[in-house]
Amino acid sequence: MSSLSDHIALRRTFAIISHPDAGKTTLTEKLLLFGGAIQMAGAVRARGEQRRTRSDWMAIEKERGISVSASVMTFEHEGLTFNLLDTPGHEDFSEDTYRTLTAVDSAIMVLDAAKGIETQTRKLFEVCRLRDVPIVTFINKVDREGRETFDLLDEIEKTLALDVSPVTWPIGMGRDLKGVYDLTRDRVILFDPGRGDHIAEIGLDASLDSPELDRVVGAAAAEKLREEVELVRAGFPEFDIDAFRAGHQTPVFFGSALKTFGVAELLRGIGRLSPAPMARKAVSRTVEPDEAKVTGFVFKVQANMDPNHRDRIAFFRICSGTFRRGMKLRHIRTGKAMALVNPVFFLARDRELAEEAYPGDIMGIPNHGQLRIGDTLSESEDLNFLGIPTFAPEVLRRVRLDDPMKAKQLKKALEDLAEEGVSQVFKPQDGSTWIVGVVGPLQFDVLSTRIESEYSIKAGFEEAPFVTARWVACDDDATMRRFIDANKSNMAEDRDGGLVYLARNSWQLTRAQQDFETVRFTATREQH
Ligand code: GDP
Repeated sequence: MSSLSDHIALRRTFAIISHPDAGKTTLTEKLLLFGGAIQMAGAVRARGEQRRTRSDWMAIEKERGISVSASVMTFEHEGLTFNLLDTPGHEDFSEDTYRTLTAVDSAIMVLDAAKGIETQTRKLFEVCRLRDVPIVTFINKVDREGRETFDLLDEIEKTLALDVSPVTWPIGMGRDLKGVYDLTRDRVILFDPGRGDHIAEIGLDASLDSPELDRVVGAAAAEKLREEVELVRAGFPEFDIDAFRAGHQTPVFFGSALKTFGVAELLRGIGRLSPAPMARKAVSRTVEPDEAKVTGFVFKVQANMDPNHRDRIAFFRICSGTFRRGMKLRHIRTGKAMALVNPVFFLARDRELAEEAYPGDIMGIPNHGQLRIGDTLSESEDLNFLGIPTFAPEVLRRVRLDDPMKAKQLKKALEDLAEEGVSQVFKPQDGSTWIVGVVGPLQFDVLSTRIESEYSIKAGFEEAPFVTARWVACDDDATMRRFIDANKSNMAEDRDGGLVYLARNSWQLTRAQQDFETVRFTATREQH
């Protein structure tokens, strides 16, 4: 039997961050394919269908053809267990997307070779940086004409302030793509365009000096590669695992998700370089994964697929210990014991009961609303994990209620939905109606639909006079009171009574910060 530390060493829990259309869905499918989790033919043929059915727990998802909420996919490859946490790639992602990144140990950043860093890559990267999550970069679509390779790398370094260390290097691009060169193993992997979507990799041992290289990629491409590799070795740091794991350096792989090219290198790269489940900070101390007692936290809550059921699924990341089904864990926020009799694992297509789970694993825990985002469950000790923040919403709207008699029910609906973490609700201190904040505007459609179908209330969202929100705090009570007095029409409370400053524009926010230098304005709020 393997020990707890063996199980930990064999796990990789990661997410993919990218801008829409960079190729995340395609790459995910190919990773699952390597994991034997899906069948090739089906994957290709059923692709359009699959997108719609993969998580069709809400009518709106089907209507829009996008996945509104993130999910988890577990697969195995070469003896390792990979837990891939999906972050919706659509432009209108939610706070969920951000928070999912608090439950991973590493991330793959997928860039389109023709586009480089785009707005959402950047936003998601910033969230990873909050915890210095190690990032592996995959420059995708090298089967098409892309930007100059050195340019792309410079852009990563400059815009993200992240050192880059190429692990593979493309030999040509677009129509001239011949393959990639693996700098760490001195090996050429040839691209075979004729084989289309099949796994088109042929390993070929050939050092850069070998005349064999000229033969297989052509003299001109071989010469160019030799020159480029010389520049790469001179201009970029060697891969440094400590710098990578501290979040300061990113290893870079090139490939084509569509052609399944470079994907095996990437997956092996994650297995080799990305950290196994790591220690996690709690309020009182740091919890090591190989501690015997089970601990973990909830990073996402999703309503049940059946709208008539009030049940929810809490996504729970195990941080330490060996979990066995039926175990009783303490729900720290309420102090109550919870018997986990039917937790589920999310396999690529299926669910199965989680009989045993280890650090890094994600289980779905069905519950009736007791479990909230940020909650810690622990076998014995009183612990609260840190680092599961609430992010300041980027879009704010005022709630419009068509039937004023239903104000109470609306309040309940807004609070329930906020509990799932896709939206936030603020009560202005001047007594005006609720302001709801989300990270992506599509969430308002989701909210109206759900308020109507699950609570039978017709409510809409209209322009709010505010553009952004910040949590505010100050060590000095008198200053805080003066601040509140001076900004009466901007003050609101979040669902837990936390004080929030709503700004009408960025200028007003800057002004308020300048006027009250000792007041702290934060764009994230820890759950504790
Ligand atoms: P997502 O929005 O990031 O999930 O991106 P998708 O995986 O849906 O890909 C967006 C588009 O780019 C689709 O039309 C894909 O077929 C295409 N695509 C993805 N990967 C590649 C690639 O490696 N090469 C090429 N040429 N196209 C790709």
